[in-house]
Amino acid sequence: MLIDNKRYWSAIKCMQQRIAVCGEYITSLDAATGDGDHWVNLNMGFGAVMEKKEEISALPLPDLFLAVAKVLMTSIGGSSGILYATAYMSAAKKIAGKNEITVAELADVVDAMAEGIMRRGKSAPGNKTMVDAIAPAAAAMREAVAAGKSDEEILEAMKQAAAEGAEKTKGMPALRGRAFYQADKGVGHLDPGAVTMSYQLAALADTLLGKQEATESDAVAKQRSGIVLDFDTADAAAWNEKGMTYFNAEFNKGRMCFSRALAIDPFNDRYYHNRGRKGLSLDRFQEALADFEMVMRLKPEDDDSRHYCGVAYFFMGKYEEAIEEFLESIRLMVKNNVPLIPPTVDWTWMAYMRLGEKEKAQQMLDTYIYPDMPCDDSDYDYLKRCLLYSGHTSPEKFMEELDNSDDVKSITETYALANYYRFVVGDIERCCEYLRQTLTYKTGHHAFAYKLATKDLQELA
Ligand code: ADP
Ligand code: MG
Repeated sequence: MLIDNKRYWSAIKCMQQRIAVCGEYITSLDAATGDGDHWVNLNMGFGAVMEKKEEISALPLPDLFLAVAKVLMTSIGGSSGILYATAYMSAAKKIAGKNEITVAELADVVDAMAEGIMRRGKSAPGNKTMVDAIAPAAAAMREAVAAGKSDEEILEAMKQAAAEGAEKTKGMPALRGRAFYQADKGVGHLDPGAVTMSYQLAALADTLLGKQEATESDAVAKQRSGIVLDFDTADAAAWNEKGMTYFNAEFNKGRMCFSRALAIDPFNDRYYHNRGRKGLSLDRFQEALADFEMVMRLKPEDDDSRHYCGVAYFFMGKYEEAIEEFLESIRLMVKNNVPLIPPTVDWTWMAYMRLGEKEKAQQMLDTYIYPDMPCDDSDYDYLKRCLLYSGHTSPEKFMEELDNSDDVKSITETYALANYYRFVVGDIERCCEYLRQTLTYKTGHHAFAYKLATKDLQELA
């Protein structure tokens, strides 16, 4: 088999397509051990390469590699930009003057790429990085070539070694990359860079073996999530709109739609916000947090996403971090004159109470809450809750005025009574009664209060 610029370009296109559809998954991996941006970085880089199709695809192979290196270097933020650029530059050097290469020479290319990354990143196999996918792949190819194996066998060996290598990063403590700064060094989590590298090497093998049609974008997406979306468009806004139609019922589908929107337009803060909201609905708090943090980077004054960062932390049991986010959200709301304060005050109060900081909790109510304060209609139940905590409303009156118009509202308000008896009165038995009552409503189980009541009951009963 001879590989020319045309075939290699098809492989790069396949890499781009496969990366584009795995945003949710890769982002969740990088959210767990790094800063959540690996997929956005890589997706943007390969997207930028595709935009230069006319210029790049017809170049002789070494020049094609150099051009790809240049685009990746300038379009990928983060460490992977430089590392990928070095990989492609090293590859170009290796095959200087050749327009076509054999599979044995491709083994040299993969080897040169691995070497380039290790040199530039001062990394080695076993450090829990992308090297752990590409170095074993290069070694497996070399061995297969030396053993006189067929082209198919060599390419299959590359693909398999890359996948296995990526899988092994799960057990490794990180010595390079951001995971190194985690207390547990990322042990127990896959390295996102190794996973995306293994996808690219699989795309390379599949394209050269003529197998890439079998894993078209939707099929790949389905394989990773078990969900099929009978909808397709290259219009990010249309994906976002589609996601909104699933917003209150089919959270997983909604979340997928927002991911597809982000694959096309990775700088849209609304798409991250929406995906984060559905991450919360699905109890995927770490991933939701990564989404809201991305919004904060794109739009630092977004009080609403700041609030939801706090909610994500709260569910993760990180109350101090949650309070920090809530207070910042309130500061932004006051600054921007947004009348949405009661829900955030309520969450802050709950977080302080869980930390045993009663005075600070009370101070939140004293500073921000008073009867008849201006308040968005949708936040009225939170204002009622705050007035119950602060003593402006008696529990008897609160119960009389319980809003039974829909289950989410009833759940939200009933749960306030559980809070009241637990934290204000100190009557755990009564609290548990209301927790149980909160869980009797037939619908609205995605409501925050329902999730919290479930959690509290496990802890207290
Ligand atoms: P950043 O770490 O700057 O946020 P990315 O998120 O884009 O950059 O990429 C992270 C990935 O880069 C990691 O998962 C790891 O595989 C890889 N990586 C980070 N540092 C190194 C290094 N020194 N050598 C090799 N690979 C590295
Ligand atoms: Mg990162």
